[in-house]
Amino acid sequence: MAVQELELTNKKKSTKFSTVKFDENIKEKIEAAPDLVFRDGSRVSGSEMWRFMTTEGPKRYPNLFSKGKNHGFSDDAELISGFRRNYFNTTMYDRLNRFAAKGTPVVFIQGGQTHEPYYAAGGIPIRPGQVNGWATNSKENMDYDEADLRRLQIREIGRQALTVDACQTAKYEIIQNELVQGISIIAPYLCTRCSDIGYGVEAHRHGKVQLPLLPVDFPVNNQQNKPWAREYVAENLRRLVRKIAELSKVEVNDDVLWKEIKLHNEKRRLAREYLDLWWSAPVPPTNSQDHTAIAGLGNESSNDPVAAKQILEESLKEVKERIRNNVKGKNLSDDPVRLFICGSCVNPNPHVVDRAGGVVVGKDDGLSEIFYDVEETGDPYEQLAKTMLSFPYELPTEERGRWVAEQVKKSRADGMIFMYQWGCNFQSAAARLVADVVKKEAGVPTIIIERAMAESAQGQEQLHNRVEVFIEMLRQGKK
Ligand code: SF4
Repeated sequence: MAVQELELTNKKKSTKFSTVKFDENIKEKIEAAPDLVFRDGSRVSGSEMWRFMTTEGPKRYPNLFSKGKNHGFSDDAELISGFRRNYFNTTMYDRLNRFAAKGTPVVFIQGGQTHEPYYAAGGIPIRPGQVNGWATNSKENMDYDEADLRRLQIREIGRQALTVDACQTAKYEIIQNELVQGISIIAPYLCTRCSDIGYGVEAHRHGKVQLPLLPVDFPVNNQQNKPWAREYVAENLRRLVRKIAELSKVEVNDDVLWKEIKLHNEKRRLAREYLDLWWSAPVPPTNSQDHTAIAGLGNESSNDPVAAKQILEESLKEVKERIRNNVKGKNLSDDPVRLFICGSCVNPNPHVVDRAGGVVVGKDDGLSEIFYDVEETGDPYEQLAKTMLSFPYELPTEERGRWVAEQVKKSRADGMIFMYQWGCNFQSAAARLVADVVKKEAGVPTIIIERAMAESAQGQEQLHNRVEVFIEMLRQGKK
């Protein structure tokens, strides 16, 4: 696919990282594992996955297969579902290119919502971070530093076109410069969580690339039990589905939407079962990186919910086995400090957390979206609306704080980190109140950490440092 070349000054820097090499010991298990089956019925065998991950992938994407102290795939090579998840995620860009070539509408969305309406209407929802990855990796054969620089230079276009104050530009720089081809509609929910999505969406109205814009409006402040609010959101969802279906030429009736809702309910249930088991295990069975990624599959599907569900099932099975055998996640210390994370769009670096003697147990964003199922009776749009309006993350801040305190207790967290991006007006304002409520109700220390928008991997030492110090403080408190 012809993707417009950026005139960037990508230069190789001198930093050298190694390339991930998977241990031949796991080859037999990978090859013997069942095919991964996608929504269109296509299948990928274990042998093909091994070939891609050891030959084609590292050649095309040296950056994604790069291994450094603070980046790269999880070291837990024995977790076979982890290898398969990495295959699934790394090949996402090829799938997106195929969808775009076939004319399947790829829909720009925001994080933190139910994905059923997009998939049911024949679209492929894609979040800002995935659009970044797609644009960055549309150029192949870059090393880690080259890819990092390319990503930053793409961001810079958005900053100069809009403002340096926006952490999120609704991917203005990518869509308006056609750095990826195939995004056919901009249709995010306008949740309270994000101060910048609405702003970024508006900017597209004035860009040279004119795509249909269809934000899904979302009433704020505890509306879930009000009939008018449910009806209003349901009507927004009907409009969303109609618009995407016009582009995909898929006929959508209630049965199609119910089928999609049932599939996503199953994913949500699997993720909750996984979290309950993980939280109550005497020894954490996976490290922070694998744990966060497995729980994330409850809501995220990397453009194929059928395959995502299969990987989630496989992860759950493997983790149950580990818990039975008292196996600890790779690189975790004995009795690690347990951290609960709050906030959108940013996380502590899992390599740093584990090395410092901690482990991430959960996050409010992400957990919120799998916390409730969509009731499978009545009108599917109204049921979806009811569930969305109930998401704890979108409730008034004090209530969100009380819900987080409950999860902190349930996950046996030793402390809570509220992390937000510089430029994130809503999360920065909510942080203090959530932290205070959690401290009062769960009785654990809390810290608020702002992530500077420097964003270069090399520019994050300050961020890592504060996480390490907090873990050390919690460890002293445990003695
Ligand atoms: S960090 Fe905040 S403002 Fe930025 S995209 Fe995320 S939620 Fe939106």
